[in-house]
Amino acid sequence: MDAQDILTALGLEPSHLGTGDHAVTSPIDGSVLARLSLAGPEDTDAAVERAHAAFLKWRTVPPPRRGDLVRLLGEELRANKGALGRLVSMEAGKILSEGLGEVQEMIDICDFAVGLSRQLYGLTIASERPGHRMSETWHPLGAVGVITAFNFPVAVWSWNTCVALVCGDPVVWKPSEKTPLTALACQALLRRAVQRFGAADVPDGLLEVVIGGPDVGERLVDSPLLPLISVTGSIPMGKKVAPRVAARMGRSILELGGNNGAIVAPSADLDLALRSIVFAAAGTCGQRCTTLRRLIVHEDIHAEVVERLHRAYRSLPVGNTLDAGTLVGPLYDESAFERMQAALERARADGGTVTGGERVTEGVPEGGVYVRPAVAEMPDQTEIVRQETFAPILYVLKYREFDQALALHNGVPQGLSSAIYTTDLRESELFLSAAGSDAGIANVNIGPSGAEIGGAFGGEKETGGGRESGSDAWKAYMRRQTQTVNYGRELPLAQGVKFDID
Ligand code: NAD
Repeated sequence: MDAQDILTALGLEPSHLGTGDHAVTSPIDGSVLARLSLAGPEDTDAAVERAHAAFLKWRTVPPPRRGDLVRLLGEELRANKGALGRLVSMEAGKILSEGLGEVQEMIDICDFAVGLSRQLYGLTIASERPGHRMSETWHPLGAVGVITAFNFPVAVWSWNTCVALVCGDPVVWKPSEKTPLTALACQALLRRAVQRFGAADVPDGLLEVVIGGPDVGERLVDSPLLPLISVTGSIPMGKKVAPRVAARMGRSILELGGNNGAIVAPSADLDLALRSIVFAAAGTCGQRCTTLRRLIVHEDIHAEVVERLHRAYRSLPVGNTLDAGTLVGPLYDESAFERMQAALERARADGGTVTGGERVTEGVPEGGVYVRPAVAEMPDQTEIVRQETFAPILYVLKYREFDQALALHNGVPQGLSSAIYTTDLRESELFLSAAGSDAGIANVNIGPSGAEIGGAFGGEKETGGGRESGSDAWKAYMRRQTQTVNYGRELPLAQGVKFDID
């Protein structure tokens, strides 16, 4: 199935995708998948206005009915999982199993959101005044601006959108300019769900997709009609976006870069740990926000772990992501390769020993950027180790005392995900305690990547502090209202205040 067939199967008219100036390329071989027109400021403003108009209607649709639309979206995704998963692989460059996994994640969040549509619970609060009742109610917030990164082109959208829709909020989505086709495909699938739901009941503008780069993103960021901006991407981007949203007193969910660490303790089950580490560090060619980038290994097992890592890395099948058997696909582009090489240079200059990291040219498609994942044994957690380089580089550090391992683990500016491999209960519990990992996600005997949708996803420190997907992340998409009703005949004031008039 080529890209045109997939786009047709997903409800897009391929002839509309060949006319613009913006070339969408596949990292697999650099081929042009489509040419799109980019949204200008007026197009973007018009999309926001349509979404705001949709909000005024959608907020009055009962939440379980809103959930019904998300249920139908889930059905469309189930029916089109193969095609959409393949398009994700072609556009973002991840292996087919991960492309399909991303669509499965969308299906899972649909199911979650359908259940949530009947569980947007508030509280009843004890009032200090006789004849009064207090409660807390959650209301829809408004249209939500969703800006996404290239490496999870559809799952992150669905975490936001499925929850936003049941909460009563339309979405204006600016996908990464690198991966707009999967966004258009999702919009087409939602359109089909709307047809089945009863188009007359759904306001226009429930999902607007605006294609463009940072300028289009900034237009959304500054729009007062979008009370919430949920943005996923690099830390430098988040540092630009956060103050702009704050300046207009908007809310933001910031899902930014990670620099995830894992501790390998002497008691670890090394067979299990090694499998998990290699998937977390080299999988997706190191291009997950939750990719394992720092391995902190006890000195007694350091030599064995490094030797086994080298052996595993040498045999990793690097190649076309659409071929069965490939485990490591391409980097997104040449500039990602240059950043990887620059980081490895810095690691060497800091006294590190680098294995792997070279370009792979044999047995891979021409036009793509393929590398062998790298292991860098470092004498210390130097500046380059403390940065996120979005490529498959695993820095390996040594520790003697557990406190030292924890200090190294937490000694970076980012705080997304973390892991420990140990069978010592004291160590694992300390890692999960208030004095342990400072990341938003902490795992024991599994790697830092591959989260399930049921938990709240996000991280601390420069990762931005946002949470989306499961648990009570939905509260960010609603406004809380404290309500007090006086059903008595008196007017007692709170705190015993007297204000009697004749
Ligand atoms: P990026 O920061 O280059 O772009 C992300 C999105 O932000 C794109 O849609 C881009 O057009 C937009 N953008 C860029 N500048 C903007 C601005 N000034 N105003 C508004 N929008 C702007 O990131 P990328 O290369 O697409 O993705 C990789 C990065 O994303 C990595 O740092 C990775 O860790 C991070 N990421 C984080 C998560 C998470 O949940 N924490 C998930 C996936 C990726």
